[in-house]
Order: sequence, then structure tokens, then C-alpha cells
Amino acid sequence: MAVAVEQKALDMVLDLLGIPVHRFQGRSVTTGATASNIMGLACARDALLLNSPHLPENYTIAENGFPPSIPSPTNPGESFIPPIKVLTVKAHGSILKAAAVTGIGRMNVHEAADASSPNLQDPWSLKFDLGKLARELETAKRIGQGVIVVVTLGEVNTGGFTPDIPVIADLCKAHGAWLHIDAAFGGFAALLPHYKYLSREMEMADSLTLDAHKWLNGPRLACRFAKSSRLRDREFKEVPGVAAVRRIARTGQKRVYWCVISGTFAHKRAERHS
Ligand SMILES: *Cc1c(COP(=O)(O)O)cnc(C)c1O
Repeated sequence: MAVAVEQKALDMVLDLLGIPVHRFQGRSVTTGATASNIMGLACARDALLLNSPHLPENYTIAENGFPPSIPSPTNPGESFIPPIKVLTVKAHGSILKAAAVTGIGRMNVHEAADASSPNLQDPWSLKFDLGKLARELETAKRIGQGVIVVVTLGEVNTGGFTPDIPVIADLCKAHGAWLHIDAAFGGFAALLPHYKYLSREMEMADSLTLDAHKWLNGPRLACRFAKSSRLRDREFKEVPGVAAVRRIARTGQKRVYWCVISGTFAHKRAERHS
């Protein structure tokens, strides 16, 4: 029953934003946007490892533990590269936490900002250097390294947004990278007629964090949405009530969309186990 109510609530959040509910078929309610970001990066991590040319079939950290390091084909001086890196512009601190918790590692989170737009008064100040992003994605694809691109809508200190999401999404798609959109603060700007197009942009995410306890002033209602009905996150498979989560197929169907709204993932888990 509680699960049905949550799923309905998550549908309503998507409805509110004008995002077709089928676009994010995996959803869950979380304790907050930090938890949503952790789940988003965990989904991304195992989806990318499943496609890694360096690892055995069906390898996931959730199931198999930390992967061996990957030999660096480009730099003999540096014998190993991390299997996954994160590219972002002024991500919320919880993305660093998520990198730590998911084993990706904080040192593998890199800034990819456009140096020419440091003006914090500019609402679109979280601009990616698109040329640099394209080059990084190309290199990563060539050497078999997974990339998670984290885009922010509404930076918590400045209110800044990331522009060019359609271009970023196309680049990610072309290079097999995962696009996580952290719209915890700014996603609901899409309710304003002038910014309605942000809903179309959020639809482009492989995973999406929304948080109703920010602009909506709701009592703890964070959401995470992940694309693709196939993305089943193994790491959550033993949690009763989160049946939608499994693993992403190695081929095709990368659209594993998810939504996590509010509530308390961990709390719920404790309840159900008791
Ligand atoms: C507030 C915020 C978070 C973390 O949200 P909590 O609900 O406090 O865990 C993550 N990302 C962004 C962009 C935020 O504004």
C-alpha cells in the first residue's frame, strides 16, 4: 500500500512538471536530495561498469565489489586510471559525498566549467566548456572509462543553472556517458511558463533528482527519477518495496529512468525489516 501511494505521489510530481510518467519508470522516494544523488550515482556506476570493456560480463560493484584498476593505455607513467569519473560544474557537496559512498572516489570528480563565464550574477553561470567536455568524453570512450556528467539546475548558494542541456545530453548519448541532473533546487522553475522547456531538458536525464522540500517548501519530499525501465539497480534489490530497481541491460535500453521522491528510503527499509 505504502509503495502504491509513493508511486502515485511520484507520478504526480512528474505530472506537475509535465513530464510523461513513462519517461521515468523506476522511481523511489528518498530521505532527501543527498540520498537521491547517491542513488543516481550508484545507478550510473553499475550501468557504466556493465558496459565496460575492461570487466567481465555483468560486473557490478553492488554484486562483485570494487573492480580491479584499469591499465592506462595513454599514459605509461600513470599505470592505472579509475574506471569511472564524474564531470560537473559547481555540483552540490552531496555529489562529492555520493562519489565517496559509491566508491567512485571524490578525487575522480572534476570541474568542466567554461572559464569564460565566472560571473555569479549570471543565472546561467554553471556553464560547461562544451569543447572540453566533448574531448574528455571522446578520450574516455576510447580508453573504456565510464563518465557520469552531473548537471545542476539551481545551485544552492548562487541559484545558478547549467545551460546547453540538450547539447550535453547529445554528447553523453553519443559517447555512452550517463547524464545525472540534480534539479533538487531549480527543477520546479519549470512550473513557470517561461521556463517550461526545462521539463523537456530534465526528461533527457538518465537519472534525475528533484526535491520538494526546497522551492516547494514541502516537508521532506525529495525525488529521484532514473530513466529506462530496464535499469534495475542491483544494489537495492533486497530492499522490499523497491521492486522497480534491478539492473540495466548491457545492450540497448539505456533509458532507465527513475524517480525518487521524498520520504525515507533508509527509514522505510528499517521498518520493513522489523
Ligand atoms: C539541497 C540540495 C541537495 C541536498 O539536499 P538534501 O535534501 O538536503 O539532502 C542536493 N543538491 C542540490 C542542488 C541542493 O540544492
